[in-house]
Order: sequence, then structure tokens, then C-alpha cells
Amino acid sequence: MPEGIIVKALSGYYYVMPLEDGGVPSVEGSAVQCRARGVFKKKGISPLVGDRVDYVLTENGEGTVDRIHARETELIRPPVANVNLAVLLFSVKEPDMNLNLLDKFLVHIEQAGLDALIVLTKQDLADPEADGRDTVADVKAMYRQIGYEVISTSSRTGEGSELLKERLAGRISVFSGQSGVGKSSMLNALVPGLSLETSEISMRLGRGRHTTRHVELIPLHNGGFVADTPGFSQLDFLEIGVEELSTCFREFAQYADECKFRGCTHTHEPGCRVIAAKEDGLIAESRYRHYEQFLNEMKEKKRRY
Ligand code: GDP
Ligand code: ZN
Repeated sequence: MPEGIIVKALSGYYYVMPLEDGGVPSVEGSAVQCRARGVFKKKGISPLVGDRVDYVLTENGEGTVDRIHARETELIRPPVANVNLAVLLFSVKEPDMNLNLLDKFLVHIEQAGLDALIVLTKQDLADPEADGRDTVADVKAMYRQIGYEVISTSSRTGEGSELLKERLAGRISVFSGQSGVGKSSMLNALVPGLSLETSEISMRLGRGRHTTRHVELIPLHNGGFVADTPGFSQLDFLEIGVEELSTCFREFAQYADECKFRGCTHTHEPGCRVIAAKEDGLIAESRYRHYEQFLNEMKEKKRRY
């Protein structure tokens, strides 16, 4: 039975991109429009964009999704299966880099069990001389130290786009980042022929960008797919336990193991190794500060619910 990946779901149809031997999607051919087998509905299962499926061809070139392969991951917003990489885009300027938001994304990504790739966009606007020190370099060093890969890109000059494309090969990714950081521009640069509306164009046309109601996977010609809707658009902490938060700060782990008390929240407890590590400069001030802020935010939310 042929295998494929669901790249779009719309009005009860699933669009399945066939996989060739070896599991590479055949981007050249078009997707097969499929219905789901009735049995899925009875069992309360619905196929998701990103699902790897077996399908059978029926007459008139359509098909039926017959079996859904086990999912590696399942995101709720956007509803996509088998995403394993979150690409976090932050512009070096316009808008200014927001490390609080970056750390918040990282918490959600750690919790979802995805890999993260930090992409610093609009490198062409970076001006290390202007403020006397290279803040972009500081940010890079800080996150690399923690163990995240950080790359610099510019859709204007093309810097970094080959490297980014390599990182996206053979996996399903979501792009995350606040509006205006250059997500659409980057995808347009990566995929020849793609023309996502950038904010520049929607402004010229005097309208807001149309918000897609359905998710679609954009094929990258290297076995990779990117969801066309930003991931983690609503960042609240409702699904994360207070005790879980510190485990989402990767670099805390090695110290947290040695805190004097079990269940240490790393805020005031005597013998807390995390606080000691922060004081010794082994944990970045901004990371610790955001941890404290998120913890308070979570407690506040949980109190209200
Ligand atoms: P999105 O909201 O994240 O999808 O961002 P867009 O792709 O719509 O880009 C927002 C604005 O930034 C637009 O005016 C783009 O032309 C501009 N922009 C995008 N990428 C770059 C870049 O690499 N360098 C510069 N200087 N501007 C960029
Ligand atoms: Zn502690």
C-alpha cells in the first residue's frame, strides 16, 4: 500500500503527498485528495496534518486514508502531528530582540519535547558599533553555552539561508516568533515559487494579513516540511506544572540535582545550588530572572483558575 504524508486537511478531505521508497516525499507529483476510512470516525480518531499514512487509490484519482502510523509528537496549536523542530525567529532589530519571549518559547518547546533552533533574523540591520558592544554576539554566546544552536540570517542578503535549509531537511518544523520578525520573508526565500504575504505587502494593500483557518505543510524539496502557521501562538503556562518549570530551563538541571531540599523551587531555599550557580555567573542573570517571572505568572494564573 502506498505511503504518504498529510500536507493539508480541508472540508473532510486529506491531501496526501506520496512518499517514495526511502521515505522521501515526491514533491514533483501533486498530493492525492483522500477521504478518511469510516472506521476512524467510529473510533474517534481524526487524521492530522503531518500524519504519515497508508492510503489506497480509488477511482477518479482520489484515495482513502487507510492507516495512520504512530505519531512521534502531536501539537495542539497548530494541530500538526510529528513536528520535531521548532524554529524560533527573533530579529536583531525591528522589532528589538525580546529575550523574555525567547525564554518563554523555549519553556514551551522543552515541555513539548521538540528540538529548538534559534534563528536571529535581519542580520543586515545589526550594528555592533552603535551601542559599543555586540549584543547580538552576547545573545548568541549565551544560548550556545546552554546548548541551543543559534544561527544568523538575513532575507535581504541571503545570509544563513542554506544552513537553515539544511537544518530543516527531512523533518517537520514550525516557525515561531512575534509578528514582523521575518517569518514569511524567510519561507519565501527558502522555497522557490512560494509567495506568502509579508507584512509589507499587506500594508501596501491596506489590509491585515489574512489569517489561515487551516494548516498546511510547505514542502522544502529536501524532505523537510514547514507548517505555514506560526507555532505556539498563545503562550500561557496553564498546561505546565509549577515543579516542571525549572526542568524546562535546561542549564538548571545539573545544579537542581544538588539542591539541599527535594522540591526546591530555586527561589529562596537554603542550600539551593541553582541560586548559587546564578551568583557564580554559571547561569545567566536574564535566564534566572525570567524563570522567577514565569513562576510568578504561573502561580497567579493557577490561582485565578
Ligand atoms: P512575519 O510577520 O514574521 O511573517 O514578518 P515578514 O516576513 O512579514 O517581515 C516583516 C517586515 O520585515 C517586512 O517589512 C519585511 O520586508 C522585513 N524583513 C523581513 N526580513 C528582513 C531582513 O532579513 N532584513 C530586513 N532589513 N528586513 C526584513
Ligand atoms: Zn534549588
